Amino acid sequence: MNIINTVKNAAFNTALTSTLHYLEKDPEINIPKAMDLIDKVVPDGWYESQRAAFRKAITEKNNWYQLILKTYQLDEGVRKTFFRNFIMNSALKGSAIQEEIAQRENCNVPWAILLDPTSACNLHCTGCWAAEYGHKLSLSLDTIDNIIQQGKELGTYMYIYTGGEPMVRKKDLITLCERHPDCEFLSFTNGTLIDEEFCKEMIRVKNFVPAISLEGFEGANDGRRGKGVFTKVQNAMKLLKKHNLPFGISTCYTSANYQDITSEAFFDMLIDAGAMFVWFFHYMPVGNDAVPALLPTPEQRKLIYERIRRFRETKPIFSMDFQNDAEYVGGCIAGGRRYLHINAAGDVEPCVFIHYSNVNIHECSLLDALKSPLFMAYHNGQPFNQNMLRPCPMLENPEYLRKMVKQSGAESTDLQSPESVDHLCDKCKLYAENWEKTANELWYENERQTKS
Ligand code: SF4
Repeated sequence: MNIINTVKNAAFNTALTSTLHYLEKDPEINIPKAMDLIDKVVPDGWYESQRAAFRKAITEKNNWYQLILKTYQLDEGVRKTFFRNFIMNSALKGSAIQEEIAQRENCNVPWAILLDPTSACNLHCTGCWAAEYGHKLSLSLDTIDNIIQQGKELGTYMYIYTGGEPMVRKKDLITLCERHPDCEFLSFTNGTLIDEEFCKEMIRVKNFVPAISLEGFEGANDGRRGKGVFTKVQNAMKLLKKHNLPFGISTCYTSANYQDITSEAFFDMLIDAGAMFVWFFHYMPVGNDAVPALLPTPEQRKLIYERIRRFRETKPIFSMDFQNDAEYVGGCIAGGRRYLHINAAGDVEPCVFIHYSNVNIHECSLLDALKSPLFMAYHNGQPFNQNMLRPCPMLENPEYLRKMVKQSGAESTDLQSPESVDHLCDKCKLYAENWEKTANELWYENERQTKS
């Protein structure tokens, strides 16, 4: 970490610690005074956009202000641990270490590691990528523990479980929370295995946050996930809310469900249920059995983009639209630039949707994986497009993925039905061509508005 960043981080860390401590006493009264505290310690020009957003929320008492107040209704221990792990450890200390190592080693170093504890699942959803790997693979507790230890040395304090259904390994997930109290753990889950006992464990360990998958209202959700799953998810959300535990929703938009999941009624349902965040994913035609007809049309994607942005200005829930929000993170975040994915067989993949790799974590270190040919192709190629509404080397720029996989010699990690990169990229070609015009109109209009 260079000297300026060290000083900058230390100053911000001190200011933030005092501010958070102060806010705990009486958030509603003290939120307006919190900014003064930060301003006294942190010089003008440092973290200006974050401070401006915070100031705006306070002055306007807008939806973000409501969301900040909601965090003070959460369990105190869980909230304080989240602030420490997510802001202090992950965003401040961790990012600085990542940056230093990335420069020294000339490779990407991730902010978060996604990993599949198991490919097993208690449901059998249509089109789930977990199915691609079969249902017999697991990363052992010691392997996951070792990945986290290596990750922390690289400055990575954020771990996100995918699958399979990670909660099939509930006990191990709690053990990992205990072993690494300085990390924040988030888990994608179908929600059906969250019960009273697990909520109590979450309160005890304090560093575990579920992101429950929903495909829309009851009909759409149960159509894909199975009858009765929506009711089980509702019960899980009720339990989490009753225990003042933070949770979010993850949802995948397709040409079939986009109207429902970007509707005001859907947002309101999630907010009423107590969700703090909602993450939107674009349907990806990955796998030999994928259905390209589920890809949204340009008009549909534009509508999704506009609706999510509109509700972001008005609804007290933190929403991320991964395929349309690349501008906030400078493009594609895969290949270790912000994250990577390790599947249940140990294959280290650049992204949860990119099932190609040169390396397996059972045979190499995390740092070696980050320097492997496909990861270096990501490192050297990012951003894949200057238009941040076309960030992906697969979906919107399929010729990039085709080239990177072929040149790096990466192989399919799909153990059930290996898909050639040509098969995958051919499916994306037409989509990419169709989306380009709309993406350019939206992106350049957006830029024009920002400048004026
Ligand atoms: S590879 Fe595509 S889907 Fe994965 S992070 Fe990059 S842009 Fe997103």
